[in-house]
Amino acid sequence: MKLLELKQIVFVNLIIVVCLVCSITPTYALPSNLIFKEQIQTQQVQDIVNLIDKKEYKKAFNTLEQIENLDMCLIRFNLNKFNELIKEYKNILLSEANVYSENGDYAFALNLLNSKHKYYKNDENVNALIKYNSNQIKNKNLVEYKGEIEHLFTHCLLAFPEVALNPKNPLSADFDRDCLTPDEFKKILMSLYNKNYVLVDIDSIYENVNGVSKQKTLYLPAGKKPLIFSFDDCNYDSKKENRGMVDKIILDRNGNIATYTSKKSIADRISYDNEFIPILENFVKTYPDFSHNGAKGVICLTGYDGILGYRTQKSNATSRYEIKKAQEVVSKLKKLGWKFACHSYGHYHMKEISDMEFAKEIYNWQNEVEPIIGKTSIYMYPYGEWEVIQNDGNICYKHKLLLDSGFELFCGVGAKTFFNYVPIGTNHTHTLLMDRKPIDGRTLRTFSDYYSHLFNCEEVYDHTNRTVPFFS
Ligand SMILES: [Zn+2]
Repeated sequence: MKLLELKQIVFVNLIIVVCLVCSITPTYALPSNLIFKEQIQTQQVQDIVNLIDKKEYKKAFNTLEQIENLDMCLIRFNLNKFNELIKEYKNILLSEANVYSENGDYAFALNLLNSKHKYYKNDENVNALIKYNSNQIKNKNLVEYKGEIEHLFTHCLLAFPEVALNPKNPLSADFDRDCLTPDEFKKILMSLYNKNYVLVDIDSIYENVNGVSKQKTLYLPAGKKPLIFSFDDCNYDSKKENRGMVDKIILDRNGNIATYTSKKSIADRISYDNEFIPILENFVKTYPDFSHNGAKGVICLTGYDGILGYRTQKSNATSRYEIKKAQEVVSKLKKLGWKFACHSYGHYHMKEISDMEFAKEIYNWQNEVEPIIGKTSIYMYPYGEWEVIQNDGNICYKHKLLLDSGFELFCGVGAKTFFNYVPIGTNHTHTLLMDRKPIDGRTLRTFSDYYSHLFNCEEVYDHTNRTVPFFS
């Protein structure tokens, strides 16, 4: 008889004895919340048995993992069914882990196996696969990273800084406050690279297990530090046209990423050096070890005026053509390692709009942007404003809508690193939030101390093009 079975039978008998003793002289009625929990567990066990009978082992196993205090609940199981599930799920687990290993994602395979190891402590196959993946990681010279993960963000670059920052430009103050020039961005990349930062995929830093998002162990080349760089408001809003930004991201005749600006002379219309996407692409070509496993940046989109310079919103008469063009660019960016995130549809202040308006936001996102970029589980709060629970401690309606829509990682704004559950001080685990450090004219001038480990703000600052002096 297997040790697991023996342990369960001893455990079950022990519980029965305890229950018999208790039933002779019951002194207290069970508190109502315990009775409620018992009812939930009984229902969950029944659901699991039904799924096992239908041979839906993966679903059954996921439900099993949701049971609170599983050890205490084993008494409710038919042990044959329980053992059947553990045995059958093992095949699923091994084949899933093997797929990741074969694709070179040893860290993910290892995480998956470790997360289920408690059910297979003495299983030869599972232990062998864990050992194999651990060795692969060691051989690739990857080590477990235990420090903080930097997440920086900025907006579209001021491709033509002499136009963008000209005081005659009505948007110059906003641009100065919120954006970087191409020179500044390049200097920032160089400094981050010299300080051993390496771009990582935002999807590699967390996982969602049975509806709960949690930080994932990250394996990096020894001495490297993880960095996520995200870019907001990448719609090239029509109101900003001819004010110093590019018009759109395009594919050139050879299918390469470039930018397009219509009002420029023919020679300057197409560029490979004035916006964050081509600049980062060029940088990684020169310094391939700046990108871990091919990771690039995160492009954060709204939908009210389309995406990436294409007027894909349904209210635009030519949206079908624009959607097609946008899809081609998105598909290329995905192949290059770029990720997409939701930055709302209309870029509203979350706290200032009603529940109804918020529901419309989600609807518009799902109907207009998702069909072009696919589903994303990353939500970047506009203005860094978030609302998670209401006064009675329950999840507020707007946040519930976000969770129900499949968002798993939420990003706010902060000068200091933060990556944990919110609201802080509660034991809620439904909202994993990561703050992002804003990098722009205002923060270069004022956050020198916070950012000194990343780059020297004064050295990065574009003293030639900015009209606001560094010490303002
Ligand atoms: Zn924004």
